[in-house]
Amino acid sequence: MKLLEGKNAIITGASRGIGKGIATVFAQHGANVAFTYNSSKEAADQLEKELEDLGVKARGYQSNAANFDEAQTLVEDVLKDFGSIDVLINNAGITKDNLLMRMSEEDFDKVIEVNLKSIYNMSKAILRPMLKQKHGSIVNMSSVVGVKGNAGQANYAASKAGMIGFSKSLALELGSRNIRTNVIAPGFIETEMTGKLDEKTVQGWRDAIPLKRGGSPEDIANACVFLASDLSSYITGQVLNVDGGMLT
Ligand code: NAP
Repeated sequence: MKLLEGKNAIITGASRGIGKGIATVFAQHGANVAFTYNSSKEAADQLEKELEDLGVKARGYQSNAANFDEAQTLVEDVLKDFGSIDVLINNAGITKDNLLMRMSEEDFDKVIEVNLKSIYNMSKAILRPMLKQKHGSIVNMSSVVGVKGNAGQANYAASKAGMIGFSKSLALELGSRNIRTNVIAPGFIETEMTGKLDEKTVQGWRDAIPLKRGGSPEDIANACVFLASDLSSYITGQVLNVDGGMLT
């Protein structure tokens, strides 16, 4: 069953990893997909083709989610190209890990800008069109680290925890307009990037997870499909941990 037939979605940061997984599963569910990337043009062009081969409309846009004006322009462009936007998935994110002792001001600010200010930028840009059409689903990609904290990731944890407060506030502000805002908190998700890590270390992480495996981008994408679709039409302001039971 296709759960997103006829819906138009914007997914930020979809040139690789989890975002790419979301774009692909969304297209398989019939959604038209506008997606962004920061610098990976070749990967974005390739993904655009793969999504179109699934029979949906798809387009990649180079757009820095941390930049307010670029987010405004992006939403204008997507509206011109797609006509309307039903779903926003704020997935773009970065890490600049270090113990506080060694964390520079620049690395703190950068992570807050890309991970947290970006969801302000994108939500602000999409607000008017969603208010006008009287519906919308926004899904923000946090992390178990935002719920629980993590040594060496104070900047990242602050950005991801901030996303939760922002999303719950938006859910309260926009509920009466039929705009829902939810959060997904992924645990350890295995991507090309984690494929480069030491296998013994990674196996240790898997063993510590109740379901005894790392998650896949598809595991996160499936949760996004649910929150984007009408199956979740009475759910807003929630944080869904998709972590194999890590935080249990
Ligand atoms: P990833 O493989 O590093 O991909 C990040 C994506 O975001 C890329 O498409 C990248 O584009 C894009 N991006 C980076 N900075 C951007 C910017 N300023 N503006 C627009 N796009 C930007 O990351 P991932 O592992 O898939 O993670 C995706 C999200 O899930 C992040 O928010 C992350 O914090 C969260 N998360 C991941 C895990 C995990 O285990 N992987 C766990 C919990 C939460 P380019 O390719 O052009 O650089």
